Amino acid sequence: MSFNKPYCIFWFRRDLRTNDNHGLAEALKSGLPVKPIFIFDREILDKLDNAQDRRVNFIHQTLLNIQSQLKAKGGDLSVFYGKPLEVWEGLLKDENLKAIYCNEDYETYAIQRDEAVAKMAEAQNTSFHQYKDQVIFAKNDVVKDDGKPYTVYTPYSRKWKGLFRPQMCEAYDSANLGNLLNFEAETLPTLKSMGFDETETLYPKAELADSMILHYGETRDFPALRGTSRLGLHLRFGTVSLRGLVKQSLNKPDKFLNELIWREFYQQILWHFPHVVKQSFKPKYDLIEWRNNPEEFDKWCKGQTGYPIVDAGMRELLATGYMHNRVRMIVASFLTKHLLIDWRWGEAWFARHLLDFDLASNNGGWQWAAGSGVDAAPYFRVFNPTLQTLKFDGKFEYIRKWVPEFDTLSYCKPVVEHELARKRCLEVYQRAVGPEKAV
Ligand SMILES: Cc1cc2nc3c(=O)[nH]c(=O)nc-3n(C[C@H](O)[C@H](O)[C@H](O)COP(=O)(O)OP(=O)(O)OC[C@H]3O[C@@H](n4cnc5c(N)ncnc54)[C@H](O)[C@@H]3O)c2cc1C
Repeated sequence: MSFNKPYCIFWFRRDLRTNDNHGLAEALKSGLPVKPIFIFDREILDKLDNAQDRRVNFIHQTLLNIQSQLKAKGGDLSVFYGKPLEVWEGLLKDENLKAIYCNEDYETYAIQRDEAVAKMAEAQNTSFHQYKDQVIFAKNDVVKDDGKPYTVYTPYSRKWKGLFRPQMCEAYDSANLGNLLNFEAETLPTLKSMGFDETETLYPKAELADSMILHYGETRDFPALRGTSRLGLHLRFGTVSLRGLVKQSLNKPDKFLNELIWREFYQQILWHFPHVVKQSFKPKYDLIEWRNNPEEFDKWCKGQTGYPIVDAGMRELLATGYMHNRVRMIVASFLTKHLLIDWRWGEAWFARHLLDFDLASNNGGWQWAAGSGVDAAPYFRVFNPTLQTLKFDGKFEYIRKWVPEFDTLSYCKPVVEHELARKRCLEVYQRAVGPEKAV
């Protein structure tokens, strides 16, 4: 559709909200009427092999919501289903399109896609503008004094806090959607038309109580409690503002803020060291001779390892798309160290099922557990699932919820004996990487 006056486009991606959205606010300030769009990206969707994908459902519901908010303000939302470069080729044919606005995305695929779109736009004399939105600090914002990136969390977080100023989490005024292009978009493509089914998932609310932040330090490690925010999904898709969460965390115990900083730490690792997507951050760890036993992997995926805390986590993931952080660490350690299965297998399983799947944090978490990553757990520290259970689920409340048969004869036998697995792991790791030192 062509318009008979100059306008700009705001392109929603992982920032699915109309309030406090940096790129949208800049587009609205530009003086040009704004046409908001979203593209269901076939480059991504075609690789999803689960028609019941809960994330696609979540995006779809969120877009319907955004569309009605924009309509109430006299605008609309155009939603495309296709390959982004092909969609942009069509959009850029309209010579009244003067500028494109969006927020930065630091994943390799997104960087390449955005560079290609920027180039296509330039060829049509359309300007392309990107803004920082999903983090406080990105790229080279927090680096060592010699300009090199941090690869250890604690000094990174110290510098992060030193550079932080409260005004960095002030909201951008995009709620006042005064200058939207008045157009009528077509209805959103249905999930069915894109090859997906509706699911009945109940998504966590995009809300954070002050009391949660205040008690986070005491509650966050216990999977039976509701002691963490469950905001991962919302941070992933931008249905909450990171700035708002940081603002809410100020002048409170800093345990919660520290986790938000872990998220930025891993994002900058991915940006500085994109090889981590396929390879170990520490190259020697790619010499590990993984056993990669498919039957054992299958048992792990289904929650049938005979280790109740591992099975509880894996069953929770399948049933809900969520797993508690403490349990993520236990199941990831179990897969890589007890079963000696390549962390990339586990990473891919999480990527398929986690509602909050995020490349940087998932890769960071897996490489941490395998010992191969930045600031990772040393490999000789092999989590003992039984001791972890006693410490973090001493009354078996979490386990009983997901593995009700755990204390009956019908429960499966352990896939491997702990002490044997620990010794085998140490031998195999040592053969590949030598005695563990700070690497
Ligand atoms: C093997 C493994 C895989 C993981 N995969 C992911 C993933 O795909 N996506 C993801 O967002 N997190 C991942 N994490 C980190 C962490 O487990 C989740 O962020 C957290 O459990 C989400 O629950 P929550 O929202 O209640 O977190 P909260 O404890 O309430 O924390 C608030 C927010 O801080 C961030 N955060 C918390 N812990 C971490 C961490 N260790 N690393 C990075 N960010 C963190 C998240 O955005 C989280 O939503 C992974 C951890 C491990 C060990």
